[in-house]
Amino acid sequence: MITPVLPTYARADLEFERGEGPYLFTPEGDKYLDFGSGVAVNLLGHAHPRLVAALTEQAGKVWHTSNLYRVPGQEKFARRLTEATFADTVFFANSGAEAMECAIKMARKYHSASGNPERYEIITFEGAFHGRTLATIAAGGQAKHLDGFGPKMEGFPQVPFGDMAALKVAINEKTAAILLEPVQGEGGIRPFLPETLRAIRKLCDENGILLIFDEVQTGMGRTGTLFAYEQSGATPDIMGVAKGIGGGFPLGACLATAEAAKGMTAGSHGSTYGGNPLAMAVGNAVFDVVLEKGFLERVRATGLKFKQKLARLADEHPAIIETVRGEGLLLGLKCRVPNTDLINAAYGEHLLTVGAGDNVVRVIPPLIVGEAELDEALGALERACAKLETKLDEEQKKEGVA
Ligand SMILES: *Cc1c(COP(=O)(O)O)cnc(C)c1O
Repeated sequence: MITPVLPTYARADLEFERGEGPYLFTPEGDKYLDFGSGVAVNLLGHAHPRLVAALTEQAGKVWHTSNLYRVPGQEKFARRLTEATFADTVFFANSGAEAMECAIKMARKYHSASGNPERYEIITFEGAFHGRTLATIAAGGQAKHLDGFGPKMEGFPQVPFGDMAALKVAINEKTAAILLEPVQGEGGIRPFLPETLRAIRKLCDENGILLIFDEVQTGMGRTGTLFAYEQSGATPDIMGVAKGIGGGFPLGACLATAEAAKGMTAGSHGSTYGGNPLAMAVGNAVFDVVLEKGFLERVRATGLKFKQKLARLADEHPAIIETVRGEGLLLGLKCRVPNTDLINAAYGEHLLTVGAGDNVVRVIPPLIVGEAELDEALGALERACAKLETKLDEEQKKEGVA
């Protein structure tokens, strides 16, 4: 018998009633340290006083008016985002997949508006994740996401991760854009080298191709700069953002240069909820905090310190953890045991982490995390590793006896 909630998730048997900063509390009052941040969403932790104030204040005024009218919060947030990035214009959506749908549509429309409608293919990289809509599963190209959902949407050739030679071969007269995450998130915290991103930018310029970055997971300070692309010296033409941008309120955005967006005229795209007053109140409040002097420097310093401590943990538990990777507070532990074993052992120590591809455990705390909480998480991971090692030893002994 099917459950009332469609069973598309293999959920942990945990529920939370309340959150405070980096902590979540069960109805029984058990306290968990949240280093999963709702999959890189709760950028400023739970119940951040400034976000709560912004949301409740807006809730007493007006929730929704639609995009038939001007939305002052959108105009303000879009102006601030364009001032802080490469972009000249912003479309607001409600999720990462919708932000990426807009990016994909915009890239195709750009070439169509330029008189080249035959240019509609968007090249992606193996290990990519761009969402769960029909277009974004085609872009991601993962069999487990495509299986059973009919013909894969045409126009998303894929090449091996970071393979420049394969990329050059894949480019042809149908190519509209190249799409990538500067650090693959769901794919297992796999960063592109800065020089690879610059080489891809150059390739795009030489071939009249647009470059799309998916910063849904890496954006809004997660990697220590406002956006991850800033660290590479390569700038996109179009960029999708979501997750942390709303700090837990559903919000996505597609940023673009004026040139890339030239085909997106009135009536060409839309969203009923996109950028509604509630979302904009929270988005602007998140941005206020992230732009405060010293905030991103602190993320970089905290991330560096945490990565070093995790590297030491990996050194001390080579049977469990192979390497540590990532930037800022987007960190991953590449495991030698199944990553779910470490995640489950961490649950036992009241620490929440998130799995990723390539047998990685993502350790992605809210950006407001303090030193004491990092050490608390390390202690929990240390105990989790020790328990898994004991289990491995026992298994080896059994095998020795048999
Ligand atoms: C999570 C994610 C998405 C999809 O976002 P949703 O809000 O789940 O639709 C797209 N791209 C990347 C890189 C992501 O991490």
